[in-house]
Amino acid sequence: AFDVLVVGGGPAGAAAAIYAARKGIRTGVAAERFGGQVLDTMAIENFVSVDYTEGPKLGTALEQHVKNYDVDIMNLQRAEKLVPPGEPGGLIEVQLANGAALKSKTVILSTGARWRQMDVPGEEEYLNKGVAYCPHCDGPLFKGKRVAVIGGGNSGVEAAIDLAGIVAHVTLLEFDGKLRADEVLQRKLRSLPNVDVIVSAQSTEVLGDGQKVTGLVYKDRTDGVMHSLALEGIFVQIGLLPNTEWLKGTLELSPRGEIVIDARGQTSLPGVFAAGDATTVPYKQIVIAMGAGSTAALSAFDHLIRSPLA
Ligand code: FAD
Repeated sequence: AFDVLVVGGGPAGAAAAIYAARKGIRTGVAAERFGGQVLDTMAIENFVSVDYTEGPKLGTALEQHVKNYDVDIMNLQRAEKLVPPGEPGGLIEVQLANGAALKSKTVILSTGARWRQMDVPGEEEYLNKGVAYCPHCDGPLFKGKRVAVIGGGNSGVEAAIDLAGIVAHVTLLEFDGKLRADEVLQRKLRSLPNVDVIVSAQSTEVLGDGQKVTGLVYKDRTDGVMHSLALEGIFVQIGLLPNTEWLKGTLELSPRGEIVIDARGQTSLPGVFAAGDATTVPYKQIVIAMGAGSTAALSAFDHLIRSPLA
């Protein structure tokens, strides 16, 4: 059995594994895809102390750093079920899709999240070439350019306000007949001179020249007429979905499906900790996930040294 079993191998999981292994305890990582969302990223300019890196390079560095330690890496393994111990202080079980069951004294859940996509032609093709999901990450890449934000909930309106301070012009498109964001955010949005809001707009296609985004096509849902906007960037803000479906009913999740944690990364189940985009941590970023992974590992270690001798 492991002392610490980490589920998920993104920035949070990698940091957790390194911090746990450095305590000299039996550490394992089971990950569907080691590297996580970072592998889908190109330019990274906010990984503090590194001016510029690229996702695949950071993904490889994460794996290499973990491999410097005695960590049992189980890549391409999807966890399907978490089974709490039968009696207090017993082992926690994580069942994998391949039928295996891993046992551990503590578990750190770091299964991350995925952005909800528009699912329209061109979106996939122009990912990182104008199609973006994270204004904190990619906003500055569009300095002085024209962008659209898709989604009029809080995250869409926050993104539009944020981007309006950096880019030349923002068009916010909302599918519904009105914005759903908090009134205070909507007021702020309406006060900005370089933002247009279009409601009842269904995005139907991302246009590009083969290299990068050149525009967006949307349908006016009130009359069915198609329109196209010339722009260089599209920020899709229609939801971040935590990869926690497999945990439903086992531990406390927020209404959005995020694993509820306290400041130490403790979940509602003793001995089970969580970190990164899969949790209720505010803001989903690489440096934040790494910090949270380290916190969760130190908390797991604290839990182990307080547990009765096995
Ligand atoms: P993830 O990176 O999502 O990793 C989750 C891990 O869990 C993966 O290994 C996954 O395979 C695994 N997993 C999921 N489900 C299971 C399961 N059931 N069983 C086993 N394993 C499972 N952030 C920045 O700070 N700067 C940027 O410039 C930046 N750009 C981005 C660009 C794009 C296109 C995207 C998508 C994200 C970007 N982000 C950026 C956000 C950043 O990538 C995330 O905040 C960060 O990766 C979260 O780390 P994590 O470890 O919590 O989760």
